[in-house]
This record gives sequence, structure tokens and C-alpha cells, in this order.
Amino acid sequence: MTLSEQDRERQSDEIYTDRLIRGSVYCGTCGYNLRTLPYVYQCPECGQRYNARPLTMKGVFLPQQAEPPVSQVLFLLVCMAAAGVLFFDAFTPPDIWRLLGGTLLTIFSVVECPKAWHSVRRYLLARAIIRRINREI
Ligand SMILES: [Zn+2]
Repeated sequence: MTLSEQDRERQSDEIYTDRLIRGSVYCGTCGYNLRTLPYVYQCPECGQRYNARPLTMKGVFLPQQAEPPVSQVLFLLVCMAAAGVLFFDAFTPPDIWRLLGGTLLTIFSVVECPKAWHSVRRYLLARAIIRRINREI
């Protein structure tokens, strides 16, 4: 009898359900310290389900994840500026290649903008959680 990946994950979760977290692991949503709670459970502060089982780590926060998305945001701003420059130069005199380049960079910027915004929001949430952790220590 072979177990599927889901069955193995479920069995591993069941093994860890009765074990308690010994070190400081924080809720990925609100930053609540999950120490002394089961590895697979839900945050008592915000109700978010988490899985702090080693090699899984879903719904938990590790302070080293808080890297600012500088390169992603900078790249997006450069693309937006380049698109603006290409559009500005595309009509005096008319140049189809600059218009095409500006259009492609604009499409890329529009597609990447929500991703960059999501990264910035995640970073700001992580900073807020770190501040909360530091206040509790
Ligand atoms: Zn929480």
C-alpha cells in the first residue's frame, strides 16, 4: 500500500497536532507569539489557521522574511519612466518602434504594478509584526 502525498501530509500533521511549539514562532497574520501552542492549530488572537510543522511552515511569520522589495519597485519605476519617455518621443517625429516599445513597457508596468503593491503590503505587514514582537519582548 502506498500513501499519496496528501495522506503523508495529513499523517505528519496529526503527529504534530499533539506537540507544542517550544520556541518563538509568530502568527503570519497578526504576529501573535505561538509558543506553547500546538504545531498545527489556529491563532488564538486572530483565528488564522497555521501549520508550524518543520518543512511546512504555513501561516507563520519568521522575522528574517521582512526584506523590502526595493529592486522590484525600482525596476517597475524604471519601466514606467522608460514607457513615458518612449511615448513622449514617439510622436515628434512619429516613430512606430518607440510607440511599440512604450506600449509594451506600459503593459508590463500595468501587469507588474499589482505584484509590486502586494510585495510592499507584505513588507509593511511584516514590519508591523516585527514592531509588535519587539514591543512584547
Ligand atoms: Zn494571528
